[in-house]
Amino acid sequence: MTKYIFVTGGVVSSIGKGITTASLGRLLRNRGFTVAPMKLDPYINVDAGTMSPHQHGEVFVTDDGAETDLDLGHYERFMDVNCSGGSSLTTGKVYSAVISAERRGDYLGGTVQVIPHVTNEIKRAIHALAVEQEADVVIAEIGGTVGDIESLPFLEAIRQMRTDVGHENSMFVHVTLVPTVGPWQEVKTKPTQHSVYKLREIGIAPDVLVCRSEVPLPVDVREKISLFCGVPIQAVIESTNAATIYEVPLLYEEAGLGDFVVNRLNLEHRDANLTEWKRLVDTLKNPKRKTTIGVVGKYTSNGDAYKSIAEALTHAGIPNDSEVKIKWIESDSLETGIDPKVALEDCDGLVVGPGFGSRGIEGKISAIQYARESGLPFLGICLGLQMAVIEFARNICGLDGANSEEMLDNPNYPVIHLLPEQKHVTEKGASMRLGTYPCNLVHGTISSQLYGAHRIEERHRHRYEVNNDFREMLQEHGMIASGVSPDYRLVEMIELPSHPFFVGTQAHPEFKSRPNRPHPLFQGLVKAAVERKASVASSLM
Ligand code: GLN
Repeated sequence: MTKYIFVTGGVVSSIGKGITTASLGRLLRNRGFTVAPMKLDPYINVDAGTMSPHQHGEVFVTDDGAETDLDLGHYERFMDVNCSGGSSLTTGKVYSAVISAERRGDYLGGTVQVIPHVTNEIKRAIHALAVEQEADVVIAEIGGTVGDIESLPFLEAIRQMRTDVGHENSMFVHVTLVPTVGPWQEVKTKPTQHSVYKLREIGIAPDVLVCRSEVPLPVDVREKISLFCGVPIQAVIESTNAATIYEVPLLYEEAGLGDFVVNRLNLEHRDANLTEWKRLVDTLKNPKRKTTIGVVGKYTSNGDAYKSIAEALTHAGIPNDSEVKIKWIESDSLETGIDPKVALEDCDGLVVGPGFGSRGIEGKISAIQYARESGLPFLGICLGLQMAVIEFARNICGLDGANSEEMLDNPNYPVIHLLPEQKHVTEKGASMRLGTYPCNLVHGTISSQLYGAHRIEERHRHRYEVNNDFREMLQEHGMIASGVSPDYRLVEMIELPSHPFFVGTQAHPEFKSRPNRPHPLFQGLVKAAVERKASVASSLM
């Protein structure tokens, strides 16, 4: 029998519901349970693929090619599991399914309504994930905040599930804000009380309250919350800001949340294995070195737009015993007078990240040129690879005006062009080359050394690719295709053997990095950056 944990949020958004959900999953994984995380998003978009990173942050891609909310990235990283398209449900998806069923005539003349048809579809999707992932526990996070009009059908569905699966098999975790106000930093419980009243109005009584607070909560405050909200004191969990997000599971374990959940859901009692997690948190908190990586992108004003890249860089610091500081560089700024040499002066390495559209690409190209010429370690991701190819074609192969067909109609030299299978695509949603594809690495390249394998698999999200008409020319001038699709049709990775570390990948390696298994390409970049920093320092002595 699968157990279900539902995570809701109250008072304000962005208080770390995703990290709480992910951490809860870690607590159960530490005890050896199979956990299937899920995100229920009340917005009407069918998936996150059509949403701007400016507004919504990164689009996270699963192995099976679903374009999802970035919280799935947290789940995968904390729980070390692979999500699927079924791990992400939106109002758009739910209504599409209900309306298709209605058009097919499945409802046999019935009036189609939010209750039961929409709620049934939500419950069906939750149960389907439990079956698909053979989960001991499904942890489903409901996006938005209690009180939002849009989240009501989801809350109603999880309310019904309590009756469907039984009290012992389901629990509600509510993440709430406990603010401090006034000159004496007084801790206020009223917003939490109101948020719980709101939940109760809907018919949900929380079993656990995770109280996000700037300061540690005095016992009398926790007692008050317990009394007014009807939650046992041991389930009023204090959650202050941690030194690193990866410490949160350890803090929750210490606060007794793991044992509480196991008892409440009547799960088998097992020892929690914290060794690996404690070790990595310890390195993150006390690194021996510090490295700075410049990340050039066009959405750098939203810290969430490159979430998985930022996390992958943090993970890569662990085996290198280095803190990885990220310097965000807006690609536009490199087009309006800021010299890349100056922007990257204090950086030991460079990442040029994914993106769409022409804004900022010349800035990216000039940053890459600087990295190529100065020996600065470089990792190009998806658009980053494409821009590295353009830079090399223009400045080394002498192809003046080389460009991508995405950026310019009929460029002189279309070194990046549309994938053939994309030529007839008209709809934007879920129509890119998405999800996991295999790639063969060329023996002796940096990439094959880092991966330690010949055949690898990475997740993709793109429409354009390196134009094979120019492959030979690039190669002759010193840019090699270090990774190709098994049918040899697509360039998946590039390298400059003459450079200390110049690697580009058409895929998104950032999606597969985990704190306990940092991604080899990011590890390689940070290692090269650490070495460069040391050699620059010794040359100054
Ligand atoms: N815009 C490019 C393409 O579609 C790169 C996509 C990306 O960076 N994810 O091919």
